Amino acid sequence: MLALISALIGCGRTAETPTLALPIDCEVGVDCWISNRPDVDPTPAIRDPSGGDSTYDGHQGTDLAVRDSGQAAATWVRAPIAGTVLRTRNNVPDGQLAAGGEIAVGDEKCGNGVVIDAGDEWEVQLCHLRWGSVIVHDGDEVTPGAPLGRVGWSGWTDHPHVHMTVRHQGRVVDPFAGAYLDDGSAAENALVWGAALPEPHEMDALVWAGFDVAPLPDAITWPLDSGRAVLPASTDALVLAVFLWRPIEGDVVQVTLKAPDGTRTSSEVVQPNTRPRQVWRVTKSWPDGERPVGLWTAEVTWRRGDRTRTLHTTTVLE
Ligand SMILES: [Zn+2]
Repeated sequence: MLALISALIGCGRTAETPTLALPIDCEVGVDCWISNRPDVDPTPAIRDPSGGDSTYDGHQGTDLAVRDSGQAAATWVRAPIAGTVLRTRNNVPDGQLAAGGEIAVGDEKCGNGVVIDAGDEWEVQLCHLRWGSVIVHDGDEVTPGAPLGRVGWSGWTDHPHVHMTVRHQGRVVDPFAGAYLDDGSAAENALVWGAALPEPHEMDALVWAGFDVAPLPDAITWPLDSGRAVLPASTDALVLAVFLWRPIEGDVVQVTLKAPDGTRTSSEVVQPNTRPRQVWRVTKSWPDGERPVGLWTAEVTWRRGDRTRTLHTTTVLE
């Protein structure tokens, strides 16, 4: 009897089914953000695992995004689970979707990636790593937390993040609930997140601000760099761009601009709507021709209930 029980435990994963660690070196909601969750609605409608709309139609995984390309280059993608590396890709340039669209990306939507065989027909796939940064190879054994490469934006993406898909016998599984995405049924001994990830309302929003010169493109793109530290005094106008990802009802953003002599030149409060990505531009122009050269400072404060986050950005007009 004992042998039978042992045999039963041995062939299942119940006794020690592992859980998924974060596949990225950061704190969710503080210096990285869940930019998209899996779409658990098989119809053209969308629904994330919490019943919200932090997803898009057909999205199969969890996206963990960083603020910009500089942070991406410095951030490791790490193995979320022990296993064997099944395959890798490491030769896809970052930013192909923005540069060349759908045709440039072709079939390599994952970009640079790593697939880990976690045993018992479970696989975890990590996508969009930085070009040339993947340091593991087919057949390598990895332990949870092992570095795999750096965060990038290769393949079908317009922002630096790591995408993680979980599959069992080739079927995609939602790691929040441990259910198959195609029919919502529970996957036995599913690979699920080892720690609760914050709900959207529990997270600090991703807020970014940077200076540039006018005109800025109309398209709302993810800010890939941190704005310009120095701007020519010959410019006709100074623009502060403020980007916000997935604000929720009730969020408030205050933007204040200070001139080199310390005076506040503008301060405005914005109540964002709930579109996934939004950008505001605060423009300072000087039609009289006098250029206020020196250090310009912007302060951007975001509030969600009793949570507050303030960031500063500067540029020197010279
Ligand atoms: Zn994704």
